[in-house]
Amino acid sequence: MKALVFIEQRDGRLKSSSCEALSVAAGLCGDSPGQVAGVLIGRDVAPLVSALKGKGVGKVYVASHDDLEHYNSLSYTRVMERAVSAFQPDVLLGMATPMGRDLFPRLAARLDAGLLTDLTAICDDQDFSGGVKPMYAGKILARVRYQGSGLKMATLRPNVFPLREGAGDAVPEVLDVSGLKDERLQTIEVRQGRGGQIDLAEATRVISGGRAMGNAENFAVLHACAEVLQAAVGASRAAVDAGYASHDMQVGQTGKTVNPGLYIACGISGAIQHLAGMKTSRVIVAINTDPDAAIFSVADYGIVADLFEAVPLLTEKLRALSDS
Ligand SMILES: Cc1cc2nc3c(=O)[nH]c(=O)nc-3n(C[C@H](O)[C@H](O)[C@H](O)COP(=O)(O)OP(=O)(O)OC[C@H]3O[C@@H](n4cnc5c(N)ncnc54)[C@H](O)[C@@H]3O)c2cc1C
Repeated sequence: MKALVFIEQRDGRLKSSSCEALSVAAGLCGDSPGQVAGVLIGRDVAPLVSALKGKGVGKVYVASHDDLEHYNSLSYTRVMERAVSAFQPDVLLGMATPMGRDLFPRLAARLDAGLLTDLTAICDDQDFSGGVKPMYAGKILARVRYQGSGLKMATLRPNVFPLREGAGDAVPEVLDVSGLKDERLQTIEVRQGRGGQIDLAEATRVISGGRAMGNAENFAVLHACAEVLQAAVGASRAAVDAGYASHDMQVGQTGKTVNPGLYIACGISGAIQHLAGMKTSRVIVAINTDPDAAIFSVADYGIVADLFEAVPLLTEKLRALSDS
């Protein structure tokens, strides 16, 4: 089997979740780096190839051009088509990130390939027959399968698949980037979100606040704890709708799906739409004044307390631990 992986980078930094896709590809291909290739697209991205050494990938197709600096679904689709044509993979993998969710359906249509999205497990390492994906806000886990024998495409949910070290020299091969510009779709402006914060979707620890935060200023309590924990700060939709937090912090069905090792929910009731975005976190801690709050049904550790007392105490204890 041959697997090709779309490797995401943003502002010259590799998305760590792409290494999960490489690990899955390496597993599918029996840890044979010659059977695994990656595609790196952007501006001046060639230096990033060295960071892919030892990740199970034998070859990296590099598409570097000023016109590719910002994500553009039309030109990125064309680059991916060229990489598929050059490598002739059986499987094409990416991550279920905003970019992957936008690029892969268009690409699947262009390549006339079957696409499984947002997988949290893959079935049958031998021939990759399908996978598992959460549906209906996480209420069910559906087994989904490919039909037919063509190219199999999939996007994987970030922070789910274990990383594995592999061989592979990640030898760069320059892709032809001529004629990629498409005037129909141009990026006019890129607005940066909150600077200097840990990316919520990629974070290994997340602390989130709900309606109980009361106002935007009170989120400082969570930021202080996040700093010690090196965590990202998230929010429920109620907190976002009330203007306490920005939309890019929203976790849930209509926000981001997170899958950290540790998720701390502070003053969040545990509505199904919130759970849809964080239920698969490895360890869930809930802090809530209501002992009957639904969030406790998914929590590994529950603290029935006022968050404004519990969180500063937690921060203090964690700081003491990290100082010692
Ligand atoms: C189509 C649709 C999509 C949605 N998408 C999302 C989504 O993506 N994400 C999302 O989060 N929601 C989403 N929602 C909204 C969701 O249904 C809930 O309304 C929302 O999650 C509630 O947010 P909350 O838990 O912060 O607020 P509440 O439900 O009001 O809960 C507040 C909690 O704080 C506790 N509390 C109060 N004071 C304190 C204190 N001092 N210390 C500790 N605990 C305290 C209370 O006991 C309560 O449990 C969606 C709804 C719909 C219909």
